[in-house]
Amino acid sequence: MVRKDRARMKVIETIEKMRKLRKALAAPVGLVPTMGYLHEGHLSLVRQARAENATLAVSIFVNPTQFGPKEDFTTYPRDIERDLKLLEKEGTDIVFMPPEEEMYPAGFNGWVEVGGVTERLEGKCRPGHFRGVATVVAKLFNITQADRAYFGQKDAQQAVVLKKMAADLNMNLEIIILPTVREPDGLAVSSRNSYLNAEERQAATVLYKALCRAQELWAGGEKDAEKIRRVMKALIQREPKARIDYVSIADAETLEELETVKAGALASLAVKIGKTRLIDNVVVG
Ligand code: AMP
Repeated sequence: MVRKDRARMKVIETIEKMRKLRKALAAPVGLVPTMGYLHEGHLSLVRQARAENATLAVSIFVNPTQFGPKEDFTTYPRDIERDLKLLEKEGTDIVFMPPEEEMYPAGFNGWVEVGGVTERLEGKCRPGHFRGVATVVAKLFNITQADRAYFGQKDAQQAVVLKKMAADLNMNLEIIILPTVREPDGLAVSSRNSYLNAEERQAATVLYKALCRAQELWAGGEKDAEKIRRVMKALIQREPKARIDYVSIADAETLEELETVKAGALASLAVKIGKTRLIDNVVVG
């Protein structure tokens, strides 16, 4: 059972209660959508949202519709009590954590589809993923009526897709993207890092090493995207535990692959380390 008698923080589990409460909230309301199992990446968003808004709302919902049938929805790490303690410490006003039936009642069948930018990279490897993401985030925006929403650059394509969704559908809020938080050895902090054993954890440093190599090559004058992709792939392939899903150097807005790399391009990759699929990116220049 989740303890709900927290000093100041309100834990809300139904849409109806969230709507009622919303009317009384001080503006602006900042929202940080998460799937829980919180780490320093999430907390960086929470802190920034806390600093910039009169009311801080954080949602915790492991969204089934953004997972493929063979993906890790059922095994995705969860620790609600720990999450609530961390959020309380950060001065969170509201935690919205609806059960699945609340978000997807029987007969649910309304979807948000963003075209174009969802067709590449993660969208290609994970069909339906961004439909699930866009749908749940649109629902969270509607339910919380937030003035600002905070997301991480760690999920660079997600950030592009959600900004496009908000612009194309005239959603009345500001979307703020914050930098990727990393471990001291460069690995991007992620809930999925908890799947890695000690050897895999070591092997996982290859993602950021490949991204840094791209950055170095570009700074050293190499502007041929294919050459940079090739060096990145070779570096990753030297790690026996790593299997590449994709290595990309793309336009940061359209996500189309580039021939010539300009400053501001998005170098991104998805690599399986053992059974764990990790993603990371850097903006070149
Ligand atoms: P998730 O719980 O994985 O859905 O992530 C919730 C939010 O935290 C998303 O906007 C992510 O992009 C963001 N996030 C996840 N990892 C990091 C990180 N290492 N640095 C910054 N933001 C992150």
